[in-house]
Formats: sequence, structure tokens, C-alpha cells
Amino acid sequence: MALLDLETGALLDGGAEPAVLLEPTADAAQLATASSADGVVGIRFPTFGDGRGHSLAVLLRERHGFKGEIRAIGYLIPDLAPFLLRSGFDTAEITDANDVETWKGALTRIKHIYQPGFRNPQPLRRNASRKAAEELDERLSETKDLAARITALRESIEGRTVFSTSLGLEDQAILHAIAASGADIDIFTLDTGRLFQEVLETVELSELRYGLRIRLVAPDANEVQQLVANDGVFGFRNSVENRKTCCEVRKVRPLNRELKGAQGWIAGIRREHSDERASVPLAAWDEAHGLIKINPVADWSTQELTAYITANNIPVNPLHARGFISIGCAPCTRAVQPGENPRAGRWWWENEEKKECGLHLNPLREGKAA
Ligand code: SF4
Repeated sequence: MALLDLETGALLDGGAEPAVLLEPTADAAQLATASSADGVVGIRFPTFGDGRGHSLAVLLRERHGFKGEIRAIGYLIPDLAPFLLRSGFDTAEITDANDVETWKGALTRIKHIYQPGFRNPQPLRRNASRKAAEELDERLSETKDLAARITALRESIEGRTVFSTSLGLEDQAILHAIAASGADIDIFTLDTGRLFQEVLETVELSELRYGLRIRLVAPDANEVQQLVANDGVFGFRNSVENRKTCCEVRKVRPLNRELKGAQGWIAGIRREHSDERASVPLAAWDEAHGLIKINPVADWSTQELTAYITANNIPVNPLHARGFISIGCAPCTRAVQPGENPRAGRWWWENEEKKECGLHLNPLREGKAA
């Protein structure tokens, strides 16, 4: 038996024994346990043609965010090499070290892969790029008219473009402009399971007003069950780490699933929101998701936003009238006092600098070129 590095095609010396060995019949609980393994996770292929191991590797990578080594073990032939690599395997146990050249040949045989996969998360055919993002940022800066910006971004991005709305004031203004422009945009909100009833009522009100559908995107039920079993119903109040885990399960992972395959992502970030957001661009290349992220009201002031909402009689969440400005999940949001930072009501028990849930990282602040 020899151990092959699937990225390089080289034979490895030894290698640690797997900390966990998954059978192809592994269920969600076993996958969750394996994802927290401190060491190699092995996945067994009992027969040639049994593809369930590939699915397990994809779930470990995409659903559980497992970053460690995944090793293919069992009935493996060189033709499987590129598929193992794409589904997230790092290494494979091969029966004969003399076959290494055949394995290497299989790894380089397929030059272009058009389907999404773990090591090529986006299809190759796409017009979204860093350069396209820069051009769009320039184009959007030529006008402050929101409907014109929506039209411009839709003209500039060829593929699926999504709008993730929290039904806040900025998002309601964007929704109005999307409806006014008639742009083909996939609209959804992250239904974390902890939303205010008023948010859901605003969903319905908006759908009736604009005659469009706002999809509710739920987190993975097994992941939520596991989270609550580990940390408790209000475990997110016990530590920043717990809170980030809750946001990861209920928001970040569902969002990432929705962004997969999209070329454009519209969000309601404004520079006035916080220091963290002060330099957010109108459009920027989002390296993490491989798409163009557009913040079409980034440069709007609060006065401009309020005036637009009033002038167009846009439906808004009734909680705003009760002092709520930035509205997230019910247990993590409170009303703010006049003069307080608009985001002071989010996770108010935490240090100011830690108040992001991971959905909207500023590429300029993160050190990534926009
Ligand atoms: S805002 Fe609160 S309840 Fe909502 S996902 Fe984050 S920690 Fe969990």
C-alpha cells in the first residue's frame, strides 16, 4: 500500500493513520463528528463504481467546512484520480506504488472542468472578474439613481445575480429599485429561525406591493440541531466564539450555498454604518465567493435613503419606528438611542470591534484588492 498526494501526484512517506474512517453509509451525525476530527478523515470505497464516498467528501468540505486531510481508501483505480481531487480528497491509498505514473497521467488528463467542484468552485465560463468589478464600480459611480444602478449592474453581469435582503431600510430601497427596473434578480432572505415576526410580515407586504417573490433560505436542520445540542438555545450569548458559530450555521453557510454559481451579489451595505464599512466600494471583486459584490447604496447618506423611501412610499419594517435601526435576529437586536451608532443594537453585549457576523467582510479592510 502506498500513499499518493492527489494535488501533486507524488508518493508520500508514511502518513498518519486516519483518526476517523467513514463508510459510504455514514449518516449526518457521523459526518458532523468526523468534521471535528483532529487528524486525517478516511473515506472507504468498498467497490469500484460506488460513488458515495465522493458525496461524503463534498459534504465534509462544503457543509461542515472541514479543512483537514481527507483520504480515499479501498477499491480505487487511477481513472478516479481527477474526480477524487475535485470532490475534496487530498490523498489516496493506492495498492501498488509502481502505478504512480498511471495515477499522475490520470490527474493531468482532464485539462478543463466546466462543472463546479471543490477545487474549481465556479464554472470557467463566466464574465465576472476583478477587472469587470472595477469597471462596474466606475460605471456605478457615474450616477446615484438607484434604479439606473440596478439596470447598469444587470447589463454588466451576464450570469445569475442575487440580492440577499434583510428587509432593512437599505434593502427595501434596493428592492423598490429592482422592481422599478424590472431587472432579472434572484431575491432571497436568510430565515435563521430567530427572526422577528415583523421581518416576515415585511416580506409578505413587499411581495404584495411589488408582485415578486422573496425566497426564504433556511439553515441546515441537522446543523441547527447540533448547534443547539452543543451550546443551548441561547448559547450565542455565552461567548463571541459561540455567537460566531451560531451566525456561521444560521447565516454564513446558507448564504454560501446560495452564492454558489452566482456571478453577482447585491447587498445593502452603506459606508455610514460603521468604521469597518467606511471604505466599502460600490462594486468589488469578492475573492472568497468568486463573484462581483455590489453595494448600490454604499455612498448614500441616511438623509438620502430616508428621502428615497418617503418619496416612493416604500414599505418598511415597523420596528424602525420603535428605535430599531440595523435589524438582525430577534434575540440579538435591540433598539438604539438617538445619536448611538446604527449598529449599536446588534450583539450589544459584545465589544464594538467584533460586531460582524461574517456575511459582509470588506475586501478593502481585509487587505484584498477590490
Ligand atoms: S444574529 Fe444571533 S441568533 Fe442570529 S445567527 Fe447570529 S448569533 Fe444566532
